[in-house]
Amino acid sequence: MQTHSLFTDTRRSPYVLLVSYETVQLGLKFEVRLESLTVRDAVIATCPSCHKRFTIAPHTLYARYHPLTPVLTIARDMKCRRCGCSGEFGWYIVRAKGPEYPRPA
Ligand SMILES: [Zn+2]
Repeated sequence: MQTHSLFTDTRRSPYVLLVSYETVQLGLKFEVRLESLTVRDAVIATCPSCHKRFTIAPHTLYARYHPLTPVLTIARDMKCRRCGCSGEFGWYIVRAKGPEYPRPA
């Protein structure tokens, strides 16, 4: 199990929000659709050319794609902000760790 700590930028806020993330497998790569992502998730995409890593919140993807779009298709659509490469990005999904609370239906 791999854990990540994101949002540790203390320049914007005096408070440090330390959130642990773990890699989750939501199914076979070609099966995972945008609608499978929850607010606890983030897509970590890596540029195939310069290997720059991007952390993408699901709500930014929801603004551009249909919920049934496979994440694989979205990864093919990505363009690197650093080098401009638009090949197929490598990606995986991380989920914030924490207690699961029962949610109303
Ligand atoms: Zn790049």
